Amino acid sequence: MITLEGVTKRYGDGTVAVDGLSFEAPEGKITVLVGPSGCGKTTSLRMINRMIEPTEGKILIDGQDTSSLAKAELRRGIGYVIQHAGLFPHRTVLSNVMTVPSLLKWDKSRAKDRAMEVLELVGLGGDFAKRYPGQLSGGQQQRVGVARALAGDPKVMLMDEPFSAIDPVVREGLQDEFLSLQESLGTTIVLVTHDIDEAIKLGDRIAVLRVGGSLAQFSSPDDLLAHPADDFVASFVGRDRGYRALSFKHADVPIHEETPTVLGETIADGDPWRLVVGDHAQPLGWVEVADVTGPVQAADLQLGGTLVDVGGSLRGFLDASLSSPSGRGVVVQDGRLYGSVRSEEVLQVIKAAPRPSGETSFTAEDSA
Ligand code: ADP
Ligand code: MG
Repeated sequence: MITLEGVTKRYGDGTVAVDGLSFEAPEGKITVLVGPSGCGKTTSLRMINRMIEPTEGKILIDGQDTSSLAKAELRRGIGYVIQHAGLFPHRTVLSNVMTVPSLLKWDKSRAKDRAMEVLELVGLGGDFAKRYPGQLSGGQQQRVGVARALAGDPKVMLMDEPFSAIDPVVREGLQDEFLSLQESLGTTIVLVTHDIDEAIKLGDRIAVLRVGGSLAQFSSPDDLLAHPADDFVASFVGRDRGYRALSFKHADVPIHEETPTVLGETIADGDPWRLVVGDHAQPLGWVEVADVTGPVQAADLQLGGTLVDVGGSLRGFLDASLSSPSGRGVVVQDGRLYGSVRSEEVLQVIKAAPRPSGETSFTAEDSA
């Protein structure tokens, strides 16, 4: 676990890049720092491995204050990946990946074995080791960057916009691979991006920063979407910006059965919310059971909440579930109640959404 406690960075010229930042990045999970350009993401990340020293506050890794460790010792346990991979152009892929084990003073054959192993892990086995960075696509170079960071078997990985410079079609495949790799390795990751879609797809926890380097919200992805803390977060996660892409994706979202009620009925069971439908099974609104005494009346209805057609887009499912007072998005078919969906489950599907057709498979070459 990585803990930031009131971390502030003031640069020499007086710029406050990070302002009193506190959060916990849980063990074995992906924590994403997201926010507009200049909001202090890179500065925050680099304070974790002390490439930049905080002006105030503390950073702890597994409870240990990082300022009490020698920098070299600290960095030995931390992998670092940057946007353009930062490979040495005149060294082979193998030699690039061996940089880290060599720094760790592993003997040569062990370093080489490890390098081959991690290259295999990122889908660049076999012949790739002998190539030079210039002979690889951007996506492949980025995989080499990840392999190099993994080579020292770090407990913690810091990643600064690792996928931002990659072609959008290839990016999605890389993100999917990255997620399954992370799941199998259980590395604690702090990842920086300016892209809210990426944050939602990759993050177990998301820290939204605003310019000036203060924390606007720290939440799980579904909580962030359902309950943005303020207008800034709401506009940052705004549906038109972030979720436009979802309009084009279809996938199977679990649809639950809803037992509706009708006006004039007295509700007996313990479900805290009941959906009220009209004569043609058309949804009319929700009632909060605890608020209703006696037969349900039109005045008890909580309106609001968009409906989604059973053949609708993921975005439609998400909007319906997030906008519903009960947290259950209402699904209709030809205007009649069909069932309901849960935002957590819609988000799970979004995270696992299939790539656009024609996309490369796990280990195929992304020579875009
Ligand atoms: P982000 O990665 O979110 O784009 P940065 O952490 O790079 O943001 O920068 C945060 C703020 O600090 C910006 O206003 C930037 O101009 C400023 N900044 C970054 N590095 C320095 C520096 N070495 N000296 C002065 N200001 C800096
Ligand atoms: Mg940056």
